Amino acid sequence: MIRRVNSVLSCIQEANNVLVVGHIMPDGDCISSVVSLSMGLEKFGKIATPAIDWRIPSSFSAFPWVERIREYSEEISEPDLIIVVDASSPDRIGRFEEFLRKGIPSIVIDHHATNTYFANECWVDASYSSAAQMVLDLLKLMDVEYDSDLALMNYLGIATDTGFFRYSNVDSSVFEAAAELVKLGADPAFVATTILETRKIEELFLERDAIDNIKLISENRFAYSYLTMRDFERHSLTEDDFTGFVGELRSIESVEVALFASEACKGQAHVSLRSKRYFDVSEIAVAFGGGGHQKASGFTLNYESDLKEALREVVEMIDSRLRNETN
Ligand code: 5GP
Ligand code: MN
Repeated sequence: MIRRVNSVLSCIQEANNVLVVGHIMPDGDCISSVVSLSMGLEKFGKIATPAIDWRIPSSFSAFPWVERIREYSEEISEPDLIIVVDASSPDRIGRFEEFLRKGIPSIVIDHHATNTYFANECWVDASYSSAAQMVLDLLKLMDVEYDSDLALMNYLGIATDTGFFRYSNVDSSVFEAAAELVKLGADPAFVATTILETRKIEELFLERDAIDNIKLISENRFAYSYLTMRDFERHSLTEDDFTGFVGELRSIESVEVALFASEACKGQAHVSLRSKRYFDVSEIAVAFGGGGHQKASGFTLNYESDLKEALREVVEMIDSRLRNETN
């Protein structure tokens, strides 16, 4: 770890203008890592541009600096260094992939075991709870002085990627990192309330539709559900407004594997996978062109038929692996 992070630091020292890029369909860890690393780089004397090629979900607009995140545009000038955070493969950064193709010096900072090492310098460590926790270690090495906004933004990703300190990626280092950031001014109650308690009533109606679609198979060890584009349109919501339902499916007592599919547009859905104890969902995600962690992964499913039909192949693969598991 020390050698990798030192190489990352040397690249940063040589650069002046840094583009910090997160992944499409951003979550709390992505937004936290992009913003806190950009804030830290600025304090370190660099010009930093936070960038994510996707709409930022509205629940994050209450956080500092989020309005500074840029979507891809041809007006963004070429940086001397691009740092990709929380993304396991280059297709995850949307149109910013173009900058990598042009050969601009690049770094990846990521905690996904499925990372494809697509930058010049790769600091990949799946033992970290979150990319945000890696950012904290990097900024400490850089001797960056934290103010309360930076502490808050850095805390955000650690809290969200651990399901608010509940998942199996939580160890003592997570609590130490969180405690350090709280001492520096992060407000845990603000983060929890802003992320968890700002739902629109339409999201609950949509949840009712998702509950209606639940199927429980493989001796009740596998729960899955989906929402179509029409379901989202009926409640004037988009798939970005409806996250977390896959966790509800996993919370069913007998369930080991949960799958939730959201149709983003005709012929394309995002599939989220979760497991509880022993099943490696990242193998399923990789088989369908995606990636992630052992207990939380995802991929994009493209199809010509309808969504329910397209899901059959994925459902069968999970069902047959569950039947063969000796656990
Ligand atoms: P979620 O189900 O919440 O979208 O994602 C769960 C995990 O899988 C996250 O760590 C996320 O980065 C990863 N993931 C989700 N979708 C994709 C995808 O299409 N490709 C890759 N490589 N990873 C994904
Ligand atoms: Mn993450």
